[in-house]
Amino acid sequence: MKHIPMRMCVACREMHPQNELIRIVRDNSSGEIKLDADKKLFGRSAYICRNTECVKLAKKKRGLERAFQCAVDGELYNTAEDMM
Ligand SMILES: [Zn+2]
Repeated sequence: MKHIPMRMCVACREMHPQNELIRIVRDNSSGEIKLDADKKLFGRSAYICRNTECVKLAKKKRGLERAFQCAVDGELYNTAEDMM
């Protein structure tokens, strides 16, 4: 069985296999914070569970702002929610 790394959700702060989480990346080249839908971006990353509750909680707690220590466009949370 292939080993899948565990990552922490910024909302519930529980550890989950990386492939069960949404990855959000601060793009190294542009500095932009983006949803890494196709897993092609490099940079500092944060994770949220693939469920509406955690996305909403992350938004409420400003989990991504904390993870990246900078402002995050609220639209990103909405986009993540739309992906559920
Ligand atoms: Zn979670």
